[in-house]
Amino acid sequence: MAIISANKKSVRRGYSKTQFRYGMAYVAITFLVLLFLNIYCSGISQRLFYESKEASMVEKCQLASDEIATLEVLSPSTVAGIVSQMESLKITRLLVTDPSGITLYDSSGSAVGSYVLLPEIVQVLTQGTSAPEGYDVFSWFYHDGVMDSRAATPIISYGTLVGCVYMTEHDTSQGALIASLQSTVLRITLFLEIVVILFTLAFSNTFSRRLNRIMTSMRIIQEGNYSHKVNMDGNDELTILGNEFNDLTERLQTSEQKRSRFVSDASHELKTPLASIKLLTDSILQNDMDMDTVREFVGDIGNEAERLIRMTEKLLSLTKAEGAAPDGENEIIYMGPTIRRVARMLQPNAEGVGITFCLELEDDVPILILEDDLYQIVFNLMENGIKYNVPGGRLTVRPYREEDNAYLEISDTGVGIPEDAISHVFERFYRVDKARSRQTGGSGLGLSIVRTIVRRNRGEIQIQSALGKGTTFTVCFPAFDTEVDRT
Ligand code: ADP
Repeated sequence: MAIISANKKSVRRGYSKTQFRYGMAYVAITFLVLLFLNIYCSGISQRLFYESKEASMVEKCQLASDEIATLEVLSPSTVAGIVSQMESLKITRLLVTDPSGITLYDSSGSAVGSYVLLPEIVQVLTQGTSAPEGYDVFSWFYHDGVMDSRAATPIISYGTLVGCVYMTEHDTSQGALIASLQSTVLRITLFLEIVVILFTLAFSNTFSRRLNRIMTSMRIIQEGNYSHKVNMDGNDELTILGNEFNDLTERLQTSEQKRSRFVSDASHELKTPLASIKLLTDSILQNDMDMDTVREFVGDIGNEAERLIRMTEKLLSLTKAEGAAPDGENEIIYMGPTIRRVARMLQPNAEGVGITFCLELEDDVPILILEDDLYQIVFNLMENGIKYNVPGGRLTVRPYREEDNAYLEISDTGVGIPEDAISHVFERFYRVDKARSRQTGGSGLGLSIVRTIVRRNRGEIQIQSALGKGTTFTVCFPAFDTEVDRT
């Protein structure tokens, strides 16, 4: 009991660990996927904004640059004059410099006449005349929901660099759009992750409950309750596992029932001769008997002991027949030689009660079997044919083929079997007439052994019997066409 409960704990602990591990792995994987999607979506949206902003800023710069390039002289007043006509630009700050970087125009008004060494302007001017026409610089910075963008482009007149146009834009509306997009994506991600966690919890709970049901059933069966069944609803692998488990338990229960019935039947059967032996020895010890009576009693003790030996031998051979798997050492043999061998062995028994053997071996057929198995079948059936025959009776043994089957027919002219007993004669220890069986040394195991061996060799056995007329046992096996030795 202590071992079982220790097992229970370790199973539970082991299982919850597995459940936790799988649950966490599931949550972590989905978290990583969602995180990647989140970063990817934010990146893509920023990239789209960047590209559209770059296009619009550079276009505005080029527009201003083209207009300014038409001026014959670039001075603060001429530039201011032309810029005032470009109201549609809608930018935060516009700066126009000459080729040396001195500011000619500043929309904020602060830098006119001074050098403004902003990186974008420096980059455009240092290209000098070597710069290809349309050389533009754009930079972008997004922070706290604000989009700051800068663009610079050269002013080129007749192939000469005559200045630079620089623009900045402090865009809060597009910045807010990016911020709201990113927070929406983040919220969706968080929502999905929560759904995943809840789903994982619910799923792993159901899974764990179903698995626990199987494990509880296993423990109940371990404790010896073989009739217990696990009830698994659904239509998945766990249901299949539950059904397989029930099948296994059913088989276990059947074999356990068979085993205990076998043990109780066997002990009951063995008890009878042992009780007789005890009775006979007590009689010898307690009574004053003459030598002849003592000899008679000791003879009876010997007979009972012989019966015990026969019974234990049969029990052993039945256990062996039931436990053995279909044999890989089977050989293709004709039935005739084995029938003749058994007949030779049983000849003295048959002669003792005046039974004649009729061996009709002309239509002999080869079958695939272990010779020892065939011997046991023929011996038990022929022995019964003698034991349950009448004095002067006949025992006929005939192998023959019909279509793809090989048949072995053993018929006697004996007492026959009552109709209601026919279905029971293959049961262990079953005897129609206990007194007769006892008298002939029967154990009630012969036909059980025969049927077990026949079935193990893919065969079937049938009985036809008429009371007072005789009995015919017909054994059927798959036939083989190979030419083999008949001796
Ligand atoms: P036993 O050792 O008692 O012969 P079996 O298992 O061989 O046990 O047979 C079971 C019972 O079937 C026998 O006790 C007998 O009553 C009946 N039986 C078997 N073979 C024959 C037969 N050829 N004719 C009549 N009854 C038979």
